[in-house]
Amino acid sequence: VNADCRAPLPIEQLVDYAAGELSEADETTLEEHLFACEPCARALERVMRLGAGIGRCVREGRIATPATDDLVRHLSAAGARIREYRLAPGDTVPCTAAPDDTFVAVRLAVPIPEVTSLSMDVDFHDLATGAREAQHTEDVPIDRTSGEVVMLFPGELIRTYPRSRWTMHMTPAEGSAALGPYVLDHLPWNIDS
Ligand SMILES: [Zn+2]
Repeated sequence: VNADCRAPLPIEQLVDYAAGELSEADETTLEEHLFACEPCARALERVMRLGAGIGRCVREGRIATPATDDLVRHLSAAGARIREYRLAPGDTVPCTAAPDDTFVAVRLAVPIPEVTSLSMDVDFHDLATGAREAQHTEDVPIDRTSGEVVMLFPGELIRTYPRSRWTMHMTPAEGSAALGPYVLDHLPWNIDS
């Protein structure tokens, strides 16, 4: 058994394997690697412990996947490459996804301790075509340990986005004023601007 791995199995493959969604041939190849490779076997164990939540994150290209600080740490420990952006209300942050980023984590600070749930409004503005799209989500959970709303996006999804601006506001269920804007200024990887 190898103590080091020169070609770690991508977390996407481990997730598909854990969910029983690999073809038989791919499964055999992967198992051959796992039996001979201690780091990858350990990564698989961690992926198994994360359970269904992570599989959903990897496979579904949803606009906002509520996550937790804990999930982000576990994914990172399991070998996922995570690009993280932290925003406080009023911040504008440039963002992108590199070719090998497994996830992009967006962390929006909620500087009001008593808030337990929020609704979120996202205004998507395609800066190339001028197209706009608004999205409203109810009951966005807050990670109380970090005081943030944590969203996890598959890198694969983020890499499909054009040059665009994402303007987000969050309104506490408790009735305080909306927080924001939180602005992500998205630039596709490798585009000269
Ligand atoms: Zn390996």
